[in-house]
Amino acid sequence: MATAISLAERGVTVDLIDIDPNWRVYGAGITITGPTLRAYKRLGMLEAIKAEGAITKRTRLFRYDGLHMLDLDEPAIEEGLPATGGIMRPVLHRIMQTRVRELEISVRLGLSVSAMDLRNDFSVANFSDGSTGTYDLVVGADSVFSSIRDLAFPHMGPAIPTGQGCWRISIRKPPGLEMGEFYLGHASPCGITACAPDMVYMWMLTPHVDRDAHMSDEELFVTLKALLADFGGNAGWIRDNMTTNDWINYRPLAAALQPKDWYNKRVVLVGDAVHATTPHLASGAGMAVESGIVLAEELARTDDVSNALSSYQERRFDRCRDVIDTSVAVGQLQLQHGDPKEHAELLGAALHRLNAPF
Ligand SMILES: Cc1cc2nc3c(=O)[nH]c(=O)nc-3n(C[C@H](O)[C@H](O)[C@H](O)COP(=O)(O)OP(=O)(O)OC[C@H]3O[C@@H](n4cnc5c(N)ncnc54)[C@H](O)[C@@H]3O)c2cc1C
Repeated sequence: MATAISLAERGVTVDLIDIDPNWRVYGAGITITGPTLRAYKRLGMLEAIKAEGAITKRTRLFRYDGLHMLDLDEPAIEEGLPATGGIMRPVLHRIMQTRVRELEISVRLGLSVSAMDLRNDFSVANFSDGSTGTYDLVVGADSVFSSIRDLAFPHMGPAIPTGQGCWRISIRKPPGLEMGEFYLGHASPCGITACAPDMVYMWMLTPHVDRDAHMSDEELFVTLKALLADFGGNAGWIRDNMTTNDWINYRPLAAALQPKDWYNKRVVLVGDAVHATTPHLASGAGMAVESGIVLAEELARTDDVSNALSSYQERRFDRCRDVIDTSVAVGQLQLQHGDPKEHAELLGAALHRLNAPF
């Protein structure tokens, strides 16, 4: 949607398709860091996010048992921009959908691309409903299991499992929680992000246990509660107050910076399709939104589409590599019970680098 919006704002006619007939997103919250807020500001959505999400200036660090260690000030990276925040994913999705509708972008749902004919000056897409379309450019923004990547980029492969998994719960806000919180010094670190005046989501990273079957809702609830046994502070509050009505999810983590080129004739990839990361820097969605904006900027700069795609790739590659390499390195440290100080330094330095303009 970020790519579609950025292109439509520059006068490009966009057909947006999504495989989900109901165009939904799952019920987690999402952390929106300063750089991500900056990208959303460029899309004209900052005020809506501020109004419907939660904005904070600081993150509080606790030992896992609730002992307060320190508060990290998070300065705003741009005049008028909040420092950091969170929002429920369905709310963010609705804000983006509203902008897509305002721009009168054509949206077709329950559809995917089943085959493509790539030519030097256009691409023909065959859709799963039997229809076809001819486009100056096809953008594959279809996430980590991208079928556009499978169809048009034989030199790329699936994302690689990192050995960790992420638990998430969306729950009412613990009384007194004012800012983001991290609980460290445990084999399974966790954190809480405010997402609305009355809602938070909590994440926890654990070593991934491979199993054949999906966990039932009951099993998700019982397992997460047990994983939180040692935790104090608001993490302990969540353990003691969580119910089976709260949204709980477990997902194994995988990452991949796909090798260049990220484009092939008149098809290009953005977002998790080409730069999937783990959530350690809470920046995957931010990188996807930035990539959409940069792609539209580069296409608007020249009539030479190949040059525009090459410039898009060059502007994005190192920045996305930094996010993925750092995120995967922090995950490895956690799996090896590495020094939490080294972990904090890696994260702090990478977050600082991301403040640079994109
Ligand atoms: C556990 C976890 C926690 C995370 N937390 C954060 C966080 O706090 N902050 C942050 O910035 N990032 C976070 N991320 C990363 C973030 O969710 C992703 O990087 C981001 O959603 C990628 O955006 P995308 O548009 O590439 O893909 P998606 O958001 O997955 O969107 C892809 C869209 O394509 C559609 N689609 C899929 N396949 C097809 C197909 N074949 N045909 C047509 N349509 C298709 C889908 O329905 C979907 O609408 C987290 C990721 C994980 C796994």
